Amino acid sequence: MKESQAEYPVTIPRPHIRFVVTPNCNLSCKSCQPGGEAYTRPCYSTGQEADIILPPEVQTLAQIATDVGFTPVKITGGEPLIRPDVSEIVAACKEIPGVVVNLGTNGLLLEEMAQKLREARIDSLNVGLNSLSRGTYKKDTGVDGLPMVLKGIERARKLGIPVNVNVVLMKQNLNEFDDFIELAERYDLDIRVLPLSNLGDYSYWSSHYVPCDELEAHIFEKYRVTSNLIQPWSGLGTPMSTFSINGVAVRIINPENGVFYSDFCQSNDCGNYPCADGIWALRIDPNGDSKYCFFPRSGRESFNYLRALRDGDFIAIVERMEQDFDILNSAEMENLWSPEVEKNKYTK
Ligand code: SF4
Repeated sequence: MKESQAEYPVTIPRPHIRFVVTPNCNLSCKSCQPGGEAYTRPCYSTGQEADIILPPEVQTLAQIATDVGFTPVKITGGEPLIRPDVSEIVAACKEIPGVVVNLGTNGLLLEEMAQKLREARIDSLNVGLNSLSRGTYKKDTGVDGLPMVLKGIERARKLGIPVNVNVVLMKQNLNEFDDFIELAERYDLDIRVLPLSNLGDYSYWSSHYVPCDELEAHIFEKYRVTSNLIQPWSGLGTPMSTFSINGVAVRIINPENGVFYSDFCQSNDCGNYPCADGIWALRIDPNGDSKYCFFPRSGRESFNYLRALRDGDFIAIVERMEQDFDILNSAEMENLWSPEVEKNKYTK
């Protein structure tokens, strides 16, 4: 029986911690950016591997973060599965009592890595998959990889690993939603729909963005089900419109339901305020730099956790992590974002 994310215990809203373990990726998705969550940093793959965080270092920082109150631990990239030691990272984190570890992947290498991830006791996987059409997938990612991703999902599910398929909603996949439901039924997995983020290319964003309301209208028309609005299971982040369709849990992150911002979003001259993503996690880049959101202008000088760890400065790490936790935990939900607001940022 698959564990749903919604079945994990929720006590109080808490930010989670994301370790961006590599800026490198084996796809070139048009909806993403080089480096994924690490894209504001230079890439580290050319002779600077020694600067990349190692499994025991992730474990130490994850232990401190867990003690401070962050939960869960998420492993992201780039594409984390291109790191040969990614299962060591997961296993190291799972040695922390009670910790929940999730990994986000594009699934291309999942078939060969799933067994090791299972042995490392991964709790769940988020597989990013924006099209079930082989041609569209290839056009969007630059790789004819859809069959490999599907084999990876099948392998993970056979091994009993809970899987969420993350779909970035775009004009070209709005009509594929029913195919995603069939996929979810076949493999007993959950679907999570995310809005397309504007990563600075307004022209691309505006020509591909679809309001989540359009998908919700399709769901009601076709399946005659209505949604409940629930918080993400860790509690912090945009509430999700949640549907149960033929036993499949579908969660839609609709920024028009509200986004979490902290004081610094307004006070630091962030040109992207109010954004559609908000803050809900501390992100630690492969070189140890930290940030609160995708965008670099977080209004607070980045602290390098890896440098402090290698210097043995545990007092500074704990103090800074407590401050980061308080800042993230003070975020409040506001209904400020809409496609019109986004447009005005670029046309005023
Ligand atoms: S981009 Fe970052 S700093 Fe700016 S509003 Fe969004 S969460 Fe806040």
